[in-house]
Amino acid sequence: MDFKLSARCDDLRQRLKGFVDDVLIPLEENAASFDQHENIDTALLERVQSQARDQGLWSLQMPRERGGQGLSMVEMAACYEEMNRSIFGPVVFNSAAPDDGNMMVLNKVASDAQKARWLQPIVDGTVRSSFVMTEPAPGSGSDPSMMRTTAVREGDHWVVNGHKHFITGAGVASHFILIARTSDDARKGLSAFLFHKDDPGWELVRRIPIMGPEEHGGHCELKFNNMVIPDENRLMEVGDGLKLTQIRLGPARLTHCMRWLGLSKRSLEIASRYVSERESFGMKLADREGVQWLLGEAAMAIQVGRLLTMHAAWKLDQGDFARKEVSMAKVAVADTLHKSVDTAIQLCGAIGYSRDTPLEWIYRYARQARLVDGASEVHKMVLSRNLLSEGSEFWKWG
Ligand SMILES: Cc1cc2nc3c(=O)[nH]c(=O)nc-3n(C[C@H](O)[C@H](O)[C@H](O)COP(=O)(O)OP(=O)(O)OC[C@H]3O[C@@H](n4cnc5c(N)ncnc54)[C@H](O)[C@@H]3O)c2cc1C
Repeated sequence: MDFKLSARCDDLRQRLKGFVDDVLIPLEENAASFDQHENIDTALLERVQSQARDQGLWSLQMPRERGGQGLSMVEMAACYEEMNRSIFGPVVFNSAAPDDGNMMVLNKVASDAQKARWLQPIVDGTVRSSFVMTEPAPGSGSDPSMMRTTAVREGDHWVVNGHKHFITGAGVASHFILIARTSDDARKGLSAFLFHKDDPGWELVRRIPIMGPEEHGGHCELKFNNMVIPDENRLMEVGDGLKLTQIRLGPARLTHCMRWLGLSKRSLEIASRYVSERESFGMKLADREGVQWLLGEAAMAIQVGRLLTMHAAWKLDQGDFARKEVSMAKVAVADTLHKSVDTAIQLCGAIGYSRDTPLEWIYRYARQARLVDGASEVHKMVLSRNLLSEGSEFWKWG
């Protein structure tokens, strides 16, 4: 086992750290940097994205021939953690969800023509994208087999009808990946399609208000009324919708973990600074054992999360789906994010609860981590199924 980073990866990581410390964290301190949904203001975003691009810190997850940095998943883990020490980080480096997962899956499964038309503009940062799967009850949520949105073939095109919700980024996206039912086959009943925001036959019903700060374009409810999609905009084979979703969700869930570890580390940085300076009852807070235990536990949880994330990343790099490993990382790191930011708020006292630090932003944002891309309970159900069928092979080497 070798835990050393390659020289190139470590160089990128350190340059990301410098950019976050010198450019992004100071911007977080200015209320004018935020839009009305508590994300980075769009005009400012374009300016800092252009700086990031000029410094070669753009689209780390994409191959170099597409304008990215061609990092492996393990290398991405080290870099994503660094970039999301700022709440603005991922979107500035074109590594925010859902574009991040959408780019990775299109790069894996799309045809060359589809890549040129649908992927390259996302890599270039000229358009944003959405992944359209979840439906209101009684449709598909945790259980994709309940999908009710249909795509019916008519000659050389498909006609789509249905209802979706919580589609991140749909308010600003131009390129959409849609999952719809194309047959009643239990395993091969879903298919994946691409559509453009200007295609007729769909409407954005509303941007759903949520408790946390929002990604650009919000989380939206969409309806499809006889939307026509040409067959050339189908991704993979008919019936491969679930397969595409699984190919997308492994890396996409794991990059969530990488980013959440960055937010967790930032939370402890803020708390460490506070307890190192603040005194009570005649001594620094940092010198009190009760404070040390809180910090020590959270620091340890972050390291546990990193090891789970790195192991899953390494397996993905070997070509494995790493389903169990990604599920374990996702459950653990979602909890680590909660623990870290909650600990930091507690140790910073009233300042932690205020908007003078990003802790309350991170705290509200964190709540989605146990829900998005599979609720923690569903991942645990999958892990239990694996344990029951594999026995002690659950933990096998290699
Ligand atoms: C901020 C945010 C962004 C999102 N972005 C997108 C997006 O871009 N595209 C998209 O398609 N979807 C998106 N989603 C939807 C997300 O993927 C779903 O919320 C998730 O899959 C769970 O589905 P559900 O909300 O319908 O929960 P349900 O399926 O209704 O489940 C509700 C709860 O029941 C429990 N539960 C469910 N099944 C089990 C089980 N088998 N065992 C034990 N407990 C169980 C869990 O606690 C779960 O939270 C987003 C959601 C959020 C909150």
